[in-house]
Amino acid sequence: MSDQRRGKLVVISGPSGAGKTSICDEVLRRLPGSVWSVSATTRPKRGHEVDGRHYFFVSDETFTRMIADEEFLEHAVYLGNRYGTPRKPVMDAVAAGRTVLMEIDVQGGAQVARRAPESIRIFVLPPTMETLKARLEGRRTESEALQQKRLAEADGEIGFAQSSGCYQFFITNDILEDSVQRVLDILARETQPA
Ligand code: 5GP
Repeated sequence: MSDQRRGKLVVISGPSGAGKTSICDEVLRRLPGSVWSVSATTRPKRGHEVDGRHYFFVSDETFTRMIADEEFLEHAVYLGNRYGTPRKPVMDAVAAGRTVLMEIDVQGGAQVARRAPESIRIFVLPPTMETLKARLEGRRTESEALQQKRLAEADGEIGFAQSSGCYQFFITNDILEDSVQRVLDILARETQPA
């Protein structure tokens, strides 16, 4: 298949509470041919989440077996839980010309940058750390202790994203609509045939 027919791998990373999921949901709604990569995770399911749609919720044993069978494109540990992107669905979708959105952490972003350098990697920043804190506190689904842990991770994630060179684009998510448009503009530009 010619390279032009191939789709694109798009990595969206950013600290918890920066608004990655809201951006992805809206991009998926508006961009024909775009699909969401469903990750596997060992973390407990949150109330509204659906197995197979938001994540594949798997046991530690299953995750270990999937690593051994080389089923992951990338995988990482975030706050004690394991997360990974199943390789086959992503590769099949790219081969079929789809734009595949992967919402993954910075460790995963670095692995994808190495293994799929042609991917588009976008990092979402909060306007301020105060905004991030307020957004995390607004999540009723999590304990305060967990919110604090996610907040503590944020500095390191932002620092890594900025110093590693793994991300080609940085978006400050102040107004959702502007951020969505920015991502759509990047994808339109990057997926144009040369
Ligand atoms: P959450 O528990 O809030 O759903 O996700 C926690 C973190 O794990 C977020 O930064 C999210 O982007 C990241 N994450 C979700 N799926 C994957 C994945 O498949 N691989 C990696 N490396 N990180 C992931």
